[in-house]
Amino acid sequence: MVIIHAAAELADFLKKERLTRGLVGFVPTMGALHEGHASLMQQARRDTQVVVLSIFVNPKQFNENADFVNYPVTREADLELARNEGVDVVFLPDVSDVYEDSFQTESANYGDLTAVFEGGKRPGHFDGVVSVVRRLFKIVRPDLAFFGEKDLQQLAVIRQLSKIEFPRIQVIGCPLIRDEDGLAMSSRNVRISASDRGHALKLHSSLLDVLRCSKTQGDLHGAIDRNRDLLNEDEHIELEYFAAVNGKEFSILKGREVPEETFVIVAAVVGGVRLIDNCRLGCS
Ligand code: AMP
Repeated sequence: MVIIHAAAELADFLKKERLTRGLVGFVPTMGALHEGHASLMQQARRDTQVVVLSIFVNPKQFNENADFVNYPVTREADLELARNEGVDVVFLPDVSDVYEDSFQTESANYGDLTAVFEGGKRPGHFDGVVSVVRRLFKIVRPDLAFFGEKDLQQLAVIRQLSKIEFPRIQVIGCPLIRDEDGLAMSSRNVRISASDRGHALKLHSSLLDVLRCSKTQGDLHGAIDRNRDLLNEDEHIELEYFAAVNGKEFSILKGREVPEETFVIVAAVVGGVRLIDNCRLGCS
């Protein structure tokens, strides 16, 4: 496994690899890697010949400085995991490699998609995400890029970026990976205390309850309202949103029809840690 820090060196390295080995698969991350990230690398390993992992804690996508400062860094363990997953190249850029001298983001405006839910609750977040992914795409020039459905709205935003600016890059969405108790894996989970974890798990159980009620009773909207109330009643949970949406446009579902692309999405702060989760309706 090769470790590269400079953007120009990576571009040069991949030029040769592309010619001799084939398709380049790209997995962008912020490190503190876990099995969710590993599943993306495994998918990239299956679909492409040259697997590139980037680890870059993008300062521009944190709307709260405390979250950025407290973001976990586990560099040695990350490299070990990448090696075990058969990653070919780890790109570890400095801020100047990614943003050059400007250190500016461009505003990302894809209508409601970038304005609602995560876009509304985390002002500037998608500007930072799109700006960094745009730069990384230009450096890596992958054939396929792998993103997790854990960050469902981010995935929809990246698909939009790719459609408009990088039509030759195929964006692959990979399933959300959970811990055994059901908590959606996240680098931030190490900051959840044992007692708060019980409260955090209610996010997943609420999603499952909506799934069950929607399937067995056809009562999606009633189940959404009931579970939102239950989460709001828990004083350890600061609920930000709990809604059924179209997973491509993030418009709120109305009416009784439940199209295939419907997801229930949730975001909440538990014990000072912001968590997001989602579940597709119609699959277990
Ligand atoms: P992050 O390091 O949190 O920016 O995440 C890097 C990539 O890993 C993103 O595409 C995430 O959606 C994906 N990811 C993070 N957690 C999970 C998970 N639990 N399951 C699947 N993908 C994940």
